[in-house]
Amino acid sequence: MDRILAEFYPYAHAELDFRSPFELLVATVLSAQTTDVRVNQVTPVLFAKYPDARALSEAEPEEIEEIIKPTGFFRAKARSLHVLSQRIVDDFDGVVPGRLEDLVTLPGVGRKTANVVLGNAFGVPGITVDTHFGRLAKRFGWTASEDPVKVEQDVMELFPPGDWTMLSHHVVFHGRRVCHARKPACGACPVAALCPSFGDGETDPEKARRLLKYELAPGQEDLRAEMIENVHRAAEIRMRTQRAAAAQNTAADAARNGGAGKDRA
Ligand code: SF4
Repeated sequence: MDRILAEFYPYAHAELDFRSPFELLVATVLSAQTTDVRVNQVTPVLFAKYPDARALSEAEPEEIEEIIKPTGFFRAKARSLHVLSQRIVDDFDGVVPGRLEDLVTLPGVGRKTANVVLGNAFGVPGITVDTHFGRLAKRFGWTASEDPVKVEQDVMELFPPGDWTMLSHHVVFHGRRVCHARKPACGACPVAALCPSFGDGETDPEKARRLLKYELAPGQEDLRAEMIENVHRAAEIRMRTQRAAAAQNTAADAARNGGAGKDRA
Protein backbone atom coordinates (compact mmCIF):
# COMPACT_ATOMS: atom_id res chain seq x y z
CA MET A 1 0.00 0.00 0.00
CA ASP A 2 2.83 2.39 0.86
CA ARG A 3 4.46 1.64 -2.51
CA ILE A 4 1.30 2.76 -4.33
CA LEU A 5 0.99 5.88 -2.17
CA ALA A 6 4.67 6.67 -2.79
CA GLU A 7 4.08 6.46 -6.55
CA PHE A 8 0.91 8.54 -6.28
CA TYR A 9 2.55 11.24 -4.12
CA PRO A 10 6.16 11.34 -5.37
CA TYR A 11 6.33 14.93 -4.12
CA ALA A 12 5.23 14.16 -0.52
CA HIS A 13 7.24 16.14 2.01
CA ALA A 14 6.93 17.87 5.37
CA GLU A 15 4.35 20.57 4.73
CA LEU A 16 5.78 22.93 7.33
CA ASP A 17 8.60 25.10 6.00
CA PHE A 18 11.84 25.01 7.99
CA ARG A 19 15.61 25.35 7.64
CA SER A 20 16.75 23.89 10.98
CA PRO A 21 15.55 21.60 13.80
CA PHE A 22 14.68 24.70 15.84
CA GLU A 23 12.50 26.14 13.06
CA LEU A 24 10.70 22.83 12.59
CA LEU A 25 10.11 22.47 16.32
CA VAL A 26 8.63 25.97 16.56
CA ALA A 27 6.53 25.49 13.40
CA THR A 28 5.18 22.20 14.75
CA VAL A 29 4.15 23.86 18.03
CA LEU A 30 2.43 26.62 16.04
CA SER A 31 0.59 24.09 13.85
CA ALA A 32 -1.71 22.97 16.70
CA GLN A 33 -5.34 23.76 15.84
CA THR A 34 -4.48 25.46 12.56
CA THR A 35 -3.28 24.67 9.05
CA ASP A 36 0.32 24.32 7.88
CA VAL A 37 -0.42 27.01 5.29
CA ARG A 38 -1.18 29.54 8.00
CA VAL A 39 1.93 28.56 9.95
CA ASN A 40 4.09 28.92 6.83
CA GLN A 41 2.74 32.43 6.41
CA VAL A 42 3.95 33.64 9.82
CA THR A 43 7.21 31.72 10.34
CA PRO A 44 9.35 33.71 7.84
CA VAL A 45 8.67 36.88 9.87
CA LEU A 46 9.14 35.08 13.20
CA PHE A 47 12.47 33.49 12.22
CA ALA A 48 13.79 36.66 10.61
CA LYS A 49 13.37 38.35 13.99
CA TYR A 50 14.20 35.38 16.26
CA PRO A 51 16.48 32.97 14.38
CA ASP A 52 17.28 30.64 17.29
CA ALA A 53 16.23 29.47 20.75
CA ARG A 54 18.35 32.07 22.52
CA ALA A 55 16.78 34.95 20.60
CA LEU A 56 13.25 33.63 21.12
CA SER A 57 13.86 33.05 24.84
CA GLU A 58 14.81 36.72 25.20
CA ALA A 59 11.81 38.03 23.23
CA GLU A 60 8.92 39.82 24.87
CA PRO A 61 5.91 37.45 24.75
CA GLU A 62 3.77 40.31 23.37
CA GLU A 63 6.09 40.63 20.38
CA ILE A 64 5.79 36.91 19.66
CA GLU A 65 2.01 37.11 20.07
CA GLU A 66 1.74 39.89 17.52
CA ILE A 67 3.61 37.87 14.87
CA ILE A 68 1.88 34.52 15.43
CA LYS A 69 -1.63 35.91 15.90
CA PRO A 70 -2.98 34.43 12.60
CA THR A 71 -2.29 30.88 13.87
CA GLY A 72 -4.88 31.19 16.67
CA PHE A 73 -4.50 30.53 20.41
CA PHE A 74 -1.63 32.98 20.06
CA ARG A 75 -1.25 33.86 23.76
CA ALA A 76 -0.89 30.23 24.82
CA LYS A 77 1.36 29.45 21.85
CA ALA A 78 3.59 32.49 22.54
CA ARG A 79 3.92 31.40 26.14
CA SER A 80 4.76 27.82 25.05
CA LEU A 81 7.40 29.01 22.59
CA HIS A 82 8.95 31.25 25.20
CA VAL A 83 9.15 28.51 27.85
CA LEU A 84 10.30 25.95 25.26
CA SER A 85 13.12 28.22 24.05
CA GLN A 86 14.21 28.94 27.62
CA ARG A 87 14.46 25.22 28.37
CA ILE A 88 16.46 24.59 25.19
CA VAL A 89 18.86 27.33 26.28
CA ASP A 90 19.06 26.19 29.92
CA ASP A 91 19.24 22.41 29.42
CA PHE A 92 20.68 21.95 25.92
CA ASP A 93 22.90 24.99 25.50
CA GLY A 94 20.50 26.55 22.99
CA VAL A 95 20.58 23.57 20.59
CA VAL A 96 17.53 21.39 19.88
CA PRO A 97 18.46 17.84 21.00
CA GLY A 98 18.40 15.04 18.43
CA ARG A 99 17.15 12.22 20.69
CA LEU A 100 13.53 11.27 21.36
CA GLU A 101 14.13 10.85 25.09
CA ASP A 102 15.50 14.42 25.31
CA LEU A 103 12.94 16.02 23.01
CA VAL A 104 9.99 14.71 25.00
CA THR A 105 11.35 16.37 28.16
CA LEU A 106 10.78 19.78 26.57
CA PRO A 107 7.55 21.52 27.60
CA GLY A 108 4.72 20.92 25.14
CA VAL A 109 6.69 18.37 23.10
CA GLY A 110 5.06 14.93 22.87
CA ARG A 111 6.04 11.92 20.79
CA LYS A 112 4.26 13.26 17.70
CA THR A 113 6.18 16.54 17.65
CA ALA A 114 9.42 14.77 18.60
CA ASN A 115 9.03 12.29 15.72
CA VAL A 116 8.28 15.09 13.25
CA VAL A 117 11.50 16.85 14.25
CA LEU A 118 13.61 13.67 14.37
CA GLY A 119 12.37 12.32 11.06
CA ASN A 120 12.51 15.50 9.06
CA ALA A 121 15.26 17.62 10.61
CA PHE A 122 17.63 14.95 11.96
CA GLY A 123 17.05 12.09 9.52
CA VAL A 124 16.19 9.70 12.39
CA PRO A 125 13.35 7.38 11.26
CA GLY A 126 10.08 7.98 13.04
CA ILE A 127 6.35 7.47 12.56
CA THR A 128 4.31 10.59 13.13
CA VAL A 129 0.86 9.70 14.39
CA ASP A 130 -1.32 12.74 13.91
CA THR A 131 -5.08 12.72 13.44
CA HIS A 132 -4.78 11.76 9.74
CA PHE A 133 -2.28 8.98 10.33
CA GLY A 134 -4.31 7.49 13.19
CA ARG A 135 -7.51 7.50 11.14
CA LEU A 136 -5.95 5.97 8.03
CA ALA A 137 -3.92 3.34 9.92
CA LYS A 138 -7.22 2.09 11.30
CA ARG A 139 -8.97 2.17 7.94
CA PHE A 140 -6.06 0.31 6.34
CA GLY A 141 -6.29 -2.36 9.06
CA TRP A 142 -2.77 -1.65 10.31
CA THR A 143 -4.00 -1.16 13.86
CA ALA A 144 -7.16 -1.49 15.91
CA SER A 145 -6.05 1.08 18.46
CA GLU A 146 -7.00 4.73 19.00
CA ASP A 147 -3.98 5.32 21.21
CA PRO A 148 -1.26 7.12 19.19
CA VAL A 149 1.58 5.35 21.00
CA LYS A 150 0.05 1.92 20.29
CA VAL A 151 -0.67 2.92 16.66
CA GLU A 152 2.98 3.94 16.31
CA GLN A 153 4.15 0.58 17.71
CA ASP A 154 1.74 -1.44 15.54
CA VAL A 155 2.82 0.31 12.35
CA MET A 156 6.52 0.10 13.26
CA GLU A 157 6.16 -3.67 13.26
CA LEU A 158 4.78 -3.68 9.72
CA PHE A 159 7.42 -1.52 7.98
CA PRO A 160 11.23 -1.31 8.06
CA PRO A 161 12.65 1.76 9.88
CA GLY A 162 13.97 3.23 6.63
CA ASP A 163 10.36 3.65 5.42
CA TRP A 164 8.91 5.27 8.54
CA THR A 165 9.43 8.97 7.85
CA MET A 166 8.27 8.92 4.23
CA LEU A 167 5.43 6.52 5.08
CA SER A 168 4.19 9.15 7.54
CA HIS A 169 4.21 11.80 4.78
CA HIS A 170 2.45 9.53 2.26
CA VAL A 171 -0.31 8.62 4.70
CA VAL A 172 -0.85 12.21 5.89
CA PHE A 173 -0.91 13.48 2.28
CA HIS A 174 -3.52 10.83 1.47
CA GLY A 175 -5.59 11.73 4.51
CA ARG A 176 -5.61 15.41 3.58
CA ARG A 177 -6.41 14.92 -0.09
CA VAL A 178 -8.46 11.72 -0.50
CA CYS A 179 -9.27 9.76 2.66
CA HIS A 180 -11.02 12.51 4.58
CA ALA A 181 -12.44 12.05 8.06
CA ARG A 182 -16.10 12.46 7.18
CA LYS A 183 -16.34 11.58 3.49
CA PRO A 184 -13.45 9.59 2.06
CA ALA A 185 -13.26 9.71 -1.75
CA CYS A 186 -13.14 5.90 -2.16
CA GLY A 187 -14.20 6.01 -5.83
CA ALA A 188 -11.11 8.09 -6.71
CA CYS A 189 -8.65 6.41 -4.36
CA PRO A 190 -5.42 4.83 -5.68
CA VAL A 191 -5.37 2.18 -2.92
CA ALA A 192 -9.08 1.30 -3.15
CA ALA A 193 -8.36 -2.28 -4.33
CA LEU A 194 -6.25 -2.98 -1.24
CA CYS A 195 -8.24 -1.08 1.36
CA PRO A 196 -10.46 -3.06 3.74
CA SER A 197 -12.50 0.11 4.34
CA PHE A 198 -13.41 0.73 0.70
CA GLY A 199 -17.03 1.84 0.72
CA ASP A 200 -16.81 3.88 3.94
CA GLY A 201 -17.00 6.91 1.68
CA GLU A 202 -18.24 7.94 -1.77
CA THR A 203 -17.70 5.14 -4.30
CA ASP A 204 -19.10 6.82 -7.42
CA PRO A 205 -15.94 7.85 -9.34
CA GLU A 206 -17.28 11.20 -10.57
CA LYS A 207 -18.77 12.23 -7.22
CA ALA A 208 -15.62 11.01 -5.43
CA ARG A 209 -13.41 13.09 -7.73
CA ARG A 210 -15.24 16.21 -6.61
CA LEU A 211 -14.23 15.45 -3.00
CA LEU A 212 -10.50 15.52 -3.75
CA LYS A 213 -8.49 18.41 -2.37
CA TYR A 214 -5.39 20.52 -3.06
CA GLU A 215 -3.44 19.54 -6.20
CA LEU A 216 -5.80 16.58 -6.79
CA ALA A 217 -8.91 18.75 -6.90
CA PRO A 218 -10.64 18.99 -10.27
CA GLY A 219 -9.13 21.87 -12.23
CA GLN A 220 -5.70 21.56 -10.58
CA GLU A 221 -4.28 19.07 -13.10
CA ASP A 222 -1.57 21.50 -14.26
CA LEU A 223 -0.43 22.09 -10.69
CA ARG A 224 -0.14 18.34 -10.00
CA ALA A 225 1.74 17.82 -13.28
CA GLU A 226 4.13 20.62 -12.35
CA MET A 227 4.71 19.12 -8.87
CA ILE A 228 5.37 15.67 -10.33
CA GLU A 229 7.74 17.06 -12.92
CA ASN A 230 9.62 19.11 -10.31
CA VAL A 231 9.49 16.80 -7.32
CA HIS A 232 12.45 18.47 -5.58
CA ARG A 233 10.75 21.89 -5.92
CA ALA A 234 7.26 20.67 -4.95
CA ALA A 235 7.28 22.50 -1.61
CA GLU A 236 8.23 25.76 -3.32
CA ILE A 237 5.52 25.30 -5.99
CA ARG A 238 2.96 24.53 -3.28
CA MET A 239 3.93 27.67 -1.34
CA ARG A 240 3.63 29.79 -4.48
CA THR A 241 0.08 28.58 -5.13
CA GLN A 242 -0.84 28.95 -1.47
CA ARG A 243 0.40 32.54 -1.41
CA ALA A 244 -1.58 33.28 -4.56
CA ALA A 245 -4.72 31.74 -3.00
CA ALA A 246 -4.18 33.71 0.24
CA ALA A 247 -3.76 36.95 -1.76
CA GLN A 248 -6.96 36.19 -3.66
CA ASN A 249 -8.84 35.57 -0.40
CA THR A 250 -7.52 38.83 1.07
CA ALA A 251 -8.60 40.71 -2.06
CA ALA A 252 -12.03 39.06 -1.94
CA ASP A 253 -12.39 39.97 1.77
CA ALA A 254 -11.38 43.56 1.02
CA ALA A 255 -13.89 43.75 -1.84
CA ARG A 256 -16.63 42.33 0.39
CA ASN A 257 -15.81 44.75 3.21
CA GLY A 258 -15.65 47.63 0.74
CA GLY A 259 -19.02 46.56 -0.66
CA ALA A 260 -20.46 46.32 2.85
CA GLY A 261 -19.07 49.79 3.61
CA LYS A 262 -20.74 51.21 0.52
CA ASP A 263 -24.00 49.51 1.45
CA ARG A 264 -23.85 51.13 4.84
CA ALA A 265 -22.94 54.57 3.42
S1 SF4 B 1 -10.65 3.21 -0.22
FE1 SF4 B 1 -11.75 4.79 0.91
S2 SF4 B 1 -11.36 4.35 3.06
FE2 SF4 B 1 -9.83 3.22 1.87
S3 SF4 B 1 -8.04 4.56 1.76
FE3 SF4 B 1 -9.25 4.93 -0.05
S4 SF4 B 1 -10.55 6.66 0.49
FE4 SF4 B 1 -9.78 5.79 2.40
